[in-house]
Amino acid sequence: MRILVIEDEKKVARFIQQGLEEEHYAVDVAHDGDKGLQMATSENYDLIILDVMLPRKNGIELMKAFRSNKGTTPTLMLTAKTSTEDKVAGLDSGADDYLTKPFAFAELLARVRSLLRRGVKDKSTVLSIADLNLDTVTHKAKRGGRVIDLTAKEYALLEFFLRNKERVLSRTIISEHIWDYHFDTGTNIIDVYVNHLRNKIDGGSDKKLIHTVRGVGYVMKEG
Ligand code: CA
Repeated sequence: MRILVIEDEKKVARFIQQGLEEEHYAVDVAHDGDKGLQMATSENYDLIILDVMLPRKNGIELMKAFRSNKGTTPTLMLTAKTSTEDKVAGLDSGADDYLTKPFAFAELLARVRSLLRRGVKDKSTVLSIADLNLDTVTHKAKRGGRVIDLTAKEYALLEFFLRNKERVLSRTIISEHIWDYHFDTGTNIIDVYVNHLRNKIDGGSDKKLIHTVRGVGYVMKEG
């Protein structure tokens, strides 16, 4: 899953980015409100983390502009302020949740997971298909009780497949949600990663879960 962090304080932005990347999210950072709005509008993010106090355009203005332009990406707003009016203004601008600075990183992660579950029918933190389970909190994958060791990118790919079961995913869509802004989609690296993942989860099993859709991309489904 791919996250946009809009935060002008570089130390804080780097701290959030590193923490999220350790949890296998792909992360882009914008350091001001104009750039943030432009990236939020032009790229395909699964979630936005938005600081309120920003140069050029503050978080409230940014969110209002983004929502009025039909932007639907779930957004977690960061605020240094604790007054009720500020929280209300944040939520009323179109943010889905807020977190007051300073925050514990574990809480930020829990809110990120919670926002990613919204709009999804299955609210469980364990994603599954057939006898395959992926725990999005511990990052443990199992197929039929067998533990599968995944690299960070394989985990991200499997999570994306599981959140989009039965949906045919093009290489472009996959790259937009698994890799950050600097990824070159001209390479065959997606096929390489899908093949690695496929060997790990489908290897040795009669029931294949990752299927190639010729000329289009891939789909995760039973049978
Ligand atoms: Ca700030």
